[in-house]
Amino acid sequence: MNTKKSNDLFSRAQRLLVGGVNSPVRAFKAVGGAPRFIKKAAGPKIVDADGNTYIDYVCSWGPMILGHADAGVIETISARAALGTSFGAPTELEIDLAELVTEAFPSMERVRMVSSGTEATMSAIRLARGATGRDKIVKFAGCYHGHSDSLLVKAGSGALTHGVPDSPGVPAALAGNTIVAPYNDLDAVAEILDADGPQIACLIVEPIAGNMGVVPPADGFLAGLRELTGCHGILLIFDEVITGFRVAHGGAQELYGIKPDLTCLGKIIGGGLPVGAFGGSAEIMEQLSPVGPIYQAGTLSGNPIAMAAGIATLERLKEPGVYKELDRLARSLAEAVHTAAADQKIPHRINRVGSMLNLFFTDRAVETFNDVMTCDLDRFTKFFQAMLDGGIYLPPSQFETWFVSLAHGDGEIEATEAALARAFEQIK
Ligand code: PMP
Repeated sequence: MNTKKSNDLFSRAQRLLVGGVNSPVRAFKAVGGAPRFIKKAAGPKIVDADGNTYIDYVCSWGPMILGHADAGVIETISARAALGTSFGAPTELEIDLAELVTEAFPSMERVRMVSSGTEATMSAIRLARGATGRDKIVKFAGCYHGHSDSLLVKAGSGALTHGVPDSPGVPAALAGNTIVAPYNDLDAVAEILDADGPQIACLIVEPIAGNMGVVPPADGFLAGLRELTGCHGILLIFDEVITGFRVAHGGAQELYGIKPDLTCLGKIIGGGLPVGAFGGSAEIMEQLSPVGPIYQAGTLSGNPIAMAAGIATLERLKEPGVYKELDRLARSLAEAVHTAAADQKIPHRINRVGSMLNLFFTDRAVETFNDVMTCDLDRFTKFFQAMLDGGIYLPPSQFETWFVSLAHGDGEIEATEAALARAFEQIK
């Protein structure tokens, strides 16, 4: 495969952009080599600067649930752009998108639109702290909620670890207010809440972990979090930036039947443009400015083009059968992966919830962060490169989620099957 143009662009980019990219994982550091620079995309496929075409299972890390350059979305964006791109004043579009969000997520009586998932979680945490008058927060090891200071903290190996910053530049004093718990371990959460409950404002969780591969919640885990946080007056925040409109129309909270106090959304609700949102009961949300005293704002929040792209996307997701179809496609992809890996006797596990899935190179069930850490990363790197050479664009990390879109079809799954057989043969 000729990648000269991508390689040249990467060299040029590195002289201007830090590491040649604007978001670290795009640099392919975990898997080596130069990233492909993308020129265009349509439906389930992306095309790089050298003209190579790939079946795309990254889907822009989740947003492109309709596939790339969906005709309806593109038409809407173009029409809106002609009417002006930003006003810094309210528009009807913000109400329309908020209606679509609150219809799907009844726990969100009031919504605030922002421009990224990071902004949604950061603002939800501030709201939770302001509303409860408490400073500490609880998060889970292996869950990612964007890069704001309070959330850029994960556990060491201990169960009851007080946070240390993951990154220089995060003040230790702030990280010290973040308590990190092990995912899928309710006993550990109960212990933390018993010890520090009255100081804890909120507990934030990815209801299906999607940033350590895909790790679904154990039976009763989310219900247990709901009960425990309720007992201690702690706000339960579901970070549905990935899962919202992905695993069901109403996200993981619909799938598992749990009502959080606050919900964070992103990715799909912007239809490929920068949108995030957070919301909850009117009582909590109306403590935000301009009704209440807790400040949050944004020059481009509720941007008309971004709202229009979100509306066009969410309207399509209301059509009957879409989640069934996503589930069917992802199931056949998971089966194809399993068959091809088993044929070569390669130890593996596949976790999947609807159209989010992941292949782990390990021989044990993956239910916790520690299980994830048993994966054979060398094997993943070889697999990733073999698949890329075979025209399949997977996330360049063992710890990221594969996504299937409505633009994928049986033809793509079959082509992937053939590439899988070759890749596993190569790396066995
Ligand atoms: N929460 C979750 C669960 C995410 O996966 C991400 C991004 N991958 C974020 C928050 C942050 O979103 P953004 O990258 O839009 O800031």
